[in-house]
Amino acid sequence: MTTLNSISGSAGSLSQFDPQALPVSAAQAIVLQWVTPLVQSERVPLRDALARVLASDVISPIDVPAHDNSAMDGYAFDGASLLLHDAAPSDASLTLDVAGKAFAGHPYTGAIAPRACVRIMTGAPMPAGCDTVVPQERVERSGSTAGEAAAAESLTEVVNEALTESITFRADAVTPGANRRRKGEDLARGNAALRAGRVLRASDIGLLASLGIVDVAVRRRLRVAYFSTGDELRSPGEPLDAGCIYDSNRYTLGAMLQRLNVEPIDLGVVRDDPESLAATLKAAAESADVVLTSGGVSVGEADFTRTQLQTLGDVSFWGLAMRPGRPLAFGRIWSGGHPGVGRAALLFGLPGNPVATMVAFYQIVRPALIAMSGATPQPVPLIPARCDAPIRKRPGRTEFQRGIAERDAQGQWRVAPTGSQSSGALSTMSEANCFIVLAHESNDLDAGDAVDIMLFDGLV
Ligand code: AMP
Ligand code: MG
Repeated sequence: MTTLNSISGSAGSLSQFDPQALPVSAAQAIVLQWVTPLVQSERVPLRDALARVLASDVISPIDVPAHDNSAMDGYAFDGASLLLHDAAPSDASLTLDVAGKAFAGHPYTGAIAPRACVRIMTGAPMPAGCDTVVPQERVERSGSTAGEAAAAESLTEVVNEALTESITFRADAVTPGANRRRKGEDLARGNAALRAGRVLRASDIGLLASLGIVDVAVRRRLRVAYFSTGDELRSPGEPLDAGCIYDSNRYTLGAMLQRLNVEPIDLGVVRDDPESLAATLKAAAESADVVLTSGGVSVGEADFTRTQLQTLGDVSFWGLAMRPGRPLAFGRIWSGGHPGVGRAALLFGLPGNPVATMVAFYQIVRPALIAMSGATPQPVPLIPARCDAPIRKRPGRTEFQRGIAERDAQGQWRVAPTGSQSSGALSTMSEANCFIVLAHESNDLDAGDAVDIMLFDGLV
């Protein structure tokens, strides 16, 4: 286990910081060292597998596509015929008799004479002896095709119908092997189609379906218990007594957890009272892998989360060089009430201010939950942008300001901070579409300076 002391020892530069205000990157590294990925797995039907973490590699049981097939509507033939024409190459043309038809799902199975071809539709298997498809737009048709569809009752009859048609096309219209998709081109049988640790996306679900797979082994969902602390908190639906506020953190936390596809356990609001807090934390450690609390981690007289963490388990750190989100307690608690007794769960004591809770969740908790779920971590991309307004910033802490970013006519990202950057102002968090990330060492910024942004929304 890594404690603050051992980290300070191994990374000498840390000693220059107040140990109660750990740089964000160091905190992220410590948290990941405390994480043990889940090992339990379960099988789920493909339809329920979206956003789940693959528990083992999926080896392709078949070739995809299963056979060479046409990439175009056109005519399939032996590409070697292109070399047989007699005329000068510049105006050489090729005339082939049409021997039959091939549709997707209805292969042409007859023989093909030299200088013959098969009318073929996209996705139809390439007939034996054919390796090239000339697109239909490139050919001139002659001869009779009259009644071909009208007389036929099914595609199978059409496939076997004798045709008296022929086609002529310029020999340079295609090269040998053109417009053919090869068997196993997308995925070869026996190769890994997807690796363990993959968080399954829509394309992966489709890929698994294309292999004929009906269910997959995924890690069980991480169980994350969460609650709010504070005597002032009322839940939506309750009357707002004098001096009270509505609890929003439990709702943002619930929503952010839902996005991560973990199993959320909502433990409600806990009063600012050490006994209630201890009882709830112990019960949470009994059932959950991770416990998130909000509020009560500062140094006020009603802030008991950190002291309870000290009693029930091990504290790794509290206090981050981060804004918003400075007060943050991290460690491990035990359901038995003492370190080493009962079941252990990681504890993140998040700050009470609503935006600080969200920033701490995204920057510190989220990577830990992803790693603990067994997923291969994917760094969140930072995008370079020009800042349209000056920003005041002191070196020595990482700031995550709320910003509104857009691309200008030149395709460059520009960003402006939203109005209030107060850690309590959820409205500006709601208005923002990105974080403006101000690095630990950075100073004040002038309008027009380069910054990094982290966009909230992605495509998949
Ligand atoms: P604390 O860290 O408990 O002192 O909380 C800091 C600030 O955040 C106080 O103004 C609290 O009223 C507020 N706060 C704490 N928890 C919540 C919550 N669950 N929802 C909304 N605001 C909260
Ligand atoms: Mg409080």
